[in-house]
Amino acid sequence: MTADVLSLTDRLQDTDLLRTAAFVDGEWVGAEEHFDVRNPATGEVIAVLPSMDASAARSAIERAEAALPAWRARPAIERSRILRRWADLIRDHADDIASILTAEQGKPWAEARGEVLYSSQFLDWFAEEGRRVYGDVVPSHTADARIIVLKQAIGVTAGITPWNLPAAMITRKAAPALAAGCTIVMKPAEQTPLTALALARLAERAGVPSGVLNMLPSDDAPPIGTEFTTNATVRKLSFTGSTEVGKLLMAQASRNVQKLSLELGGNSPFIVFDDAGIDEAVEGIVSTKYRNAGQICTGANRVLVQRGILDDFVEALRQRTQRVTLGNGFDHGVEMGPLIDAGGLEKVERHVADLIDRGGTVVTGGRRSDLGRTFFEPTVITNVGTDTLPWQDEETFGPVAAVTAFDDEDEAIALANSTEYGLVAYVYTHDVGRIFRVSEALETGMVAVNSGRVSNEQAPFGGVKQSGLGREGSRYGIDDWLELKYINLAGLSRR
Ligand code: ADP
Repeated sequence: MTADVLSLTDRLQDTDLLRTAAFVDGEWVGAEEHFDVRNPATGEVIAVLPSMDASAARSAIERAEAALPAWRARPAIERSRILRRWADLIRDHADDIASILTAEQGKPWAEARGEVLYSSQFLDWFAEEGRRVYGDVVPSHTADARIIVLKQAIGVTAGITPWNLPAAMITRKAAPALAAGCTIVMKPAEQTPLTALALARLAERAGVPSGVLNMLPSDDAPPIGTEFTTNATVRKLSFTGSTEVGKLLMAQASRNVQKLSLELGGNSPFIVFDDAGIDEAVEGIVSTKYRNAGQICTGANRVLVQRGILDDFVEALRQRTQRVTLGNGFDHGVEMGPLIDAGGLEKVERHVADLIDRGGTVVTGGRRSDLGRTFFEPTVITNVGTDTLPWQDEETFGPVAAVTAFDDEDEAIALANSTEYGLVAYVYTHDVGRIFRVSEALETGMVAVNSGRVSNEQAPFGGVKQSGLGREGSRYGIDDWLELKYINLAGLSRR
């Protein structure tokens, strides 16, 4: 055991939440191969986990298939009660799960705790929505018939989640799946399986029946992705991650015409008009660029500022950025943690070098932190040209605000839309007419006006263009886990 193992277990009130096995059919199981989970702030190994393979995925899918009929047949209110219990348990253990999350992911503990509470809200929300899966009776074109529309659970499903939101992305998929009556086999990201396994442990305690929720840690994702997409028992895959992997899974899923929900990359514009509140907009940047060290798919990759307020805005952003405290997420007062790994750091460095080479001016930051490892200073770069990597549709995925000036509304819209992605756009202005004109013209699934946040359980999260397919959260989110079936009921005339 390393010091880090001791320090993580020391932080936990309930050490049973630190699981080092896969969860299949209600059992905690091992594998021959193993992999290390490391703390990105220190590099130390915090756990050694079994690496599940394609055959483990196949047997988990079989178990999920066996569990399906009974789960699907249960009255929605019974499934709802179990999901609510799961949500309550997550809240009861929020401190412990936050510690596990910070240890494997790096984000500040308070931010991790916020994510854990947010993850519980998807369970509450879909516990309710599962009870409102209403059908329809449609007037028929013949007098002696009625058309009845039912909504039924899709069946056995699979989920693949990323490392940047290790708790919320699990429940954002598992909650609607289970509420709808589906069963699910999930593979969390290799960097952050411990949070997912802790949530699975609480699902077990909440009474989720064996086989309904299965969690497969692995550091070899492709074979599991292939099994999830090509095993005909799996009727739907929900994936959150990179566009590159999303496209690969989409190609694989074509074999069985499998249903897909994809939450992929973004290249989000953050547009500040000259009538905006500058401090308000600066706080928005902090929320989308420095939260989780900029490692969020909704991160503002291109900051567009109207020329009249450019200097004032950049100065306010510089001052605020220099107050961001960087450090180990367990340390008190830390606002930003490390990047997830060396690959993440190299990418941010490559982007910064490109921005500077092409004429950008570093206002603050721009380099690795003296803290070492994967810590990168919160950075503001201005004079950013449209020939740079963020403008060529690469996501920086780090704490770099790349600022470009624009002159008028039409130019802002054209620049914002000049991307293959369409997840979210941020717009800062107090002009009501402009709010509508710009929001409607932006080619994105979501628009945040005078706010740096879009994610909550009530709203439909998702993108257009190459940012994905489908919506998660909201009353629309459960539809992705349901099939429509129409029954043509004829012969109703008096005989
Ligand atoms: P990131 O670059 O942010 O890690 P990825 O798309 O690589 O994004 O990872 C998101 C999730 O997809 C993770 O759980 C990862 O293990 C998984 N993944 C990566 N490659 C594949 C693949 N070929 N098939 C299935 N899942 C994959």
